Amino acid sequence: MSQMIRRAPSQAWLSDHWKTEMARIDECVDCGLCKTRCPYELDIPNLLRKNLADYNDILAGRVKV
Ligand code: SF4
Repeated sequence: MSQMIRRAPSQAWLSDHWKTEMARIDECVDCGLCKTRCPYELDIPNLLRKNLADYNDILAGRVKV
C-alpha cells in the first residue's frame, strides 16, 4: 500500500473498501505462517504493520502523498 498509494492516483486507495481491508492488518496474530510460505523470505507481519502505520498517517494528514 505504501508504494501503490504513491505511484498511482492516491484517492482510489483511500476508499472505505481499502480502509476496511487495511484495518484487517490489526487482526494479525503473528503466527508466522505467511513467512514460511513467502518465496522471498519477507518479514510480512512487520511489513504489514509498517504499511498500516503509514496508511493511518496518510489518513490523518500527518503524511502527504
Ligand atoms: S499476516 Fe502472517 S503472521 Fe499475521 S496472522 Fe496472517 S499468516 Fe499469521
